[in-house]
Amino acid sequence: MARIVVKFGGTSVADIDRIKDAALRIQAEAKGGNQVVAVVSAMAGVTNQMVALTDQMGALFDAREYDAIVSTGEQSNAGLMALALQTLGVQARSWLGWQIPIRTDGVHGKARITGIETEELERRLNTGEVAVVAGFQGIGPDGRITTLGRGGSDLTAVALAGALNAERCDIYTDVDGIYTSDPRVVPKARKLDHVTYDEMLEMASLGSKVLQTRSVELAMNHGVRIQVRSAFSGAPGTFVVNEDEIVEQQIVSGISDSKDDAKITLLRVADRPGVAAGIFGPLAEAAINVDMIVQNVSEDGKTDLTFTVGKSDLKAAAGLLKENQADIGYEELISDPDVVKVSVVGVGMRSHAGVAQKMFQTLADEGINIQVITTSEIKVSVLVAGKFGEQAVRALHTAYGLDVE
Ligand code: ADP
Ligand code: ASP
Ligand code: MG
Repeated sequence: MARIVVKFGGTSVADIDRIKDAALRIQAEAKGGNQVVAVVSAMAGVTNQMVALTDQMGALFDAREYDAIVSTGEQSNAGLMALALQTLGVQARSWLGWQIPIRTDGVHGKARITGIETEELERRLNTGEVAVVAGFQGIGPDGRITTLGRGGSDLTAVALAGALNAERCDIYTDVDGIYTSDPRVVPKARKLDHVTYDEMLEMASLGSKVLQTRSVELAMNHGVRIQVRSAFSGAPGTFVVNEDEIVEQQIVSGISDSKDDAKITLLRVADRPGVAAGIFGPLAEAAINVDMIVQNVSEDGKTDLTFTVGKSDLKAAAGLLKENQADIGYEELISDPDVVKVSVVGVGMRSHAGVAQKMFQTLADEGINIQVITTSEIKVSVLVAGKFGEQAVRALHTAYGLDVE
């Protein structure tokens, strides 16, 4: 008897009819002789509504109450799914994060899972009961509800699959797999049969939100077999696998884009030792992540420094830098939230030259100016003006031969 985890995202459980459809899939898995853990998200849009309600309540922000509010969509869907299964004659019950419990650290809003106590859950699975688990949530050291960051139901599913030694973890969603690019942006995007953990990790962190980044990281570390597949068709999806399982390796597997970044430029910074530390120290202390960095030294000993931070951190970062202007010694700060980071990802880059050059040439041919560049072993990212984001993604998709015929 195999143990499996299935996860249904927001659109796959967006209303009663869809919950009933998803329940039929769960029933089929259980009838096939599997022990089934079904992780459910909130109905599509519900978490956003909860976030908006929290915002409307005003300036006083208590992250513990934020979590109490935004986790509710998963709670009601877990109950509804358990009812749908019972209606089909399937033995099932709902589990909230704290009831299992899924233990997390105390970082409300983006908590990390520290451990899962599976004893009672396993005992019930062994009796044939389906466990319907509310995704996205756990319990912190203070006994309060925590949430795992947006898209966090993926993490719930992967973490449970790891803790329960599940044979597979099927992520049901509104696309039938992982594509070379977001199919909503690139109509010619191609579905991949397989993608490596490394590539999916880069793609997710660079904006392909089909899987939450941390869920991919956890799957990689624990060897969890993920399949991303459609909740609306029976077709096989995309498997996230180790590199050695891929027979024919593409040089480039995907193009990602992210609108989550913002650019800051400091003009005419003094060019002397310690300046970069003076700039990035206060940002690090405030837990503001800096991603891409470029520095140009001009002949008069002054330098311009450009870097990116998360869009949601832009205000705080600019504020801190202005506070420290005299110490750092720059003349002007320019911030620009209207940028897109476009990235080319592929493990084949490790062994093939010229990938970056093709990217730069393609963007040049399109007349798109590159503002900042960063690279890693398996990706090249560039920052371009917001209005060029989609054009850049489509042109690169064609240039690397990824378009479907
Ligand atoms: P769910 O609610 O099921 O978790 P998400 O909206 O989080 O679904 O993720 C699915 C969406 O991810 C798709 O609708 C698609 O637009 C988007 N997406 C972004 N990049 C990709 C990609 N490379 N392949 C497939 N889907 C992608
Ligand atoms: N409902 C949560 C969100 O919208 C978690 C999830 O769907 O994965 O972020
Ligand atoms: Mg998701």
